[in-house]
Amino acid sequence: MTEMVRKITLSRAVRIMQNLFPEEYNFYPRSWILPDEFQLFVAQVRMVKDGDPSWKPTFIVKPDSGCQGDGIYLIKDPSDIRLAGTLQSRPAVVQEYICKPLLIDKLKFDIRLYVLLKSLEPLEIYIAKDGLSRFCTEPYQEPHPRNLHHIFMHLTNYSLNIHSGNFVHSDSTSTGSKRTFSSILCRLSSKGVDIKKVWSDIISLVIKTVIALTPELRVFYQSDIPAGRPGPTCFQILGFDILLMKNLKPILLEVNANPSMRIEHEQELSPGVFENVPSLVDEEVKVAVIRDTLRLMDPFKKKRENHFPDIYMDRKHRFPPVSDRMSSLKLQLSKLSIVRSQQLGKPLASKEEPPDSDLASASAGGASPEGHLPSICLKQVFPKYAKQFNYLRLVDRMANLFIRFLGIKGTMKLGPTGFRTFIRNCKLSSGSLSMAAVDILYIDITRRWNSMTVVHQDSGLRPGSSFGPRCTPSPVAWLFLRSHGWTTTRLAGLRGAAQPLSARKPRKPRKLLWTRRCWKQHTPIY
Ligand code: ADP
Repeated sequence: MTEMVRKITLSRAVRIMQNLFPEEYNFYPRSWILPDEFQLFVAQVRMVKDGDPSWKPTFIVKPDSGCQGDGIYLIKDPSDIRLAGTLQSRPAVVQEYICKPLLIDKLKFDIRLYVLLKSLEPLEIYIAKDGLSRFCTEPYQEPHPRNLHHIFMHLTNYSLNIHSGNFVHSDSTSTGSKRTFSSILCRLSSKGVDIKKVWSDIISLVIKTVIALTPELRVFYQSDIPAGRPGPTCFQILGFDILLMKNLKPILLEVNANPSMRIEHEQELSPGVFENVPSLVDEEVKVAVIRDTLRLMDPFKKKRENHFPDIYMDRKHRFPPVSDRMSSLKLQLSKLSIVRSQQLGKPLASKEEPPDSDLASASAGGASPEGHLPSICLKQVFPKYAKQFNYLRLVDRMANLFIRFLGIKGTMKLGPTGFRTFIRNCKLSSGSLSMAAVDILYIDITRRWNSMTVVHQDSGLRPGSSFGPRCTPSPVAWLFLRSHGWTTTRLAGLRGAAQPLSARKPRKPRKLLWTRRCWKQHTPIY
């Protein structure tokens, strides 16, 4: 999963969807993968600038493997990219910079939302009802050559801003440099903003992003846990970083496979002496996410529900009043500490032990272990809204085809027999396409494909190729699309920058992909 959401992989996955569904995927800034697409980036920016000299864009360069703002910088022109040496060793994504973010107290902020990917097959997605808002610590100004290097103005990373003298640790969840997202929504609502719309746009962004990621994930998953074999039930908590634009449109910045679950922060007691102190905002949001993920994933829950149906029937009435929530959270935290200590094989430190009364009350609800828990904070959004989004799962269906015709379970390559079966089942063979011709086609496609991909020690159609290593549909996907009425021209659009630069003659960027109109279509609001 970590690989799937690296900056380059995410950009590729979203770009495939942008090519197929440009309107639906306009929540992700236009991006280029460096160093492969450097020339393309230069040429496309030049073309737009030539067409509209008043256009003064800003771009943000982000190293692929970076996190916490590491190595990120802003540029005004492609020629400002620090190409020398670094990009070859450290690939990156360069992205349009969102110049007009929504500001609160004159500061830029982003949103960290926790998303639970409960299951891949069938797809089940949950979103936490509250998230974190992380603030910059220097008043925002639109990018200008003089302020491009002001990280406290442009980057919202907590790990960076914590080092600013202006960072405010607050005892409240609605003030300071880290707040709950719900407090921001409250504030917007009091100004008349339609926050239901903001939420539904965010939910739609999350579902669409997961849909973009699942095809490749599915192929990897089946190779690790082949169907029919008992395996662990996997789940993943993802951290979505989202920016709200001035017009309240949410923009996806990145997806984090290992979001920080820390609920404390360091405080400098005296020069050089630090202590970890609880962070109220983090506790409020993260404890609920972990607690409810465990509740949802609990493999024994079904059994218990069947065993004690009456207890679970009146569960609703057992929730403590809101005023008790904080003490309940503390109890949960203590429980989490117990689990952590037990996992580490450490004895419990006495201060981590929950007070006897808490334990007693926990076991008093003993008949129902969830008796004392607040209502669940994770909201199911898929399959709940499946009807609205299923049409986007085209590449997912290709992945299913790919998996189905792999031949040997647990492999990631489609062999000649699988390819034959695929052709036969899709009724693509006819008088003019004999099985011998299918075999030749297989060899031809494999050869051509291998020459396009970087890694090609083995023969066979590789998993990356099912949706394309460079934003290109695989031969299987290609045949699938053809059989679904896609024209060669439209497919050519998808094949885009399919070859590595070394294997490609320099050529003019195709107008089809890059016109001022297209640019506007993808980025109508910047
Ligand atoms: P990292 O993984 O290093 O945190 P991000 O992609 O989250 O990288 O970017 C770091 C910060 O840079 C974000 O929190 C956000 O404030 C800012 N940022 C990233 N991409 C953009 C963008 N396209 N437009 C405006 N700001 C951005």
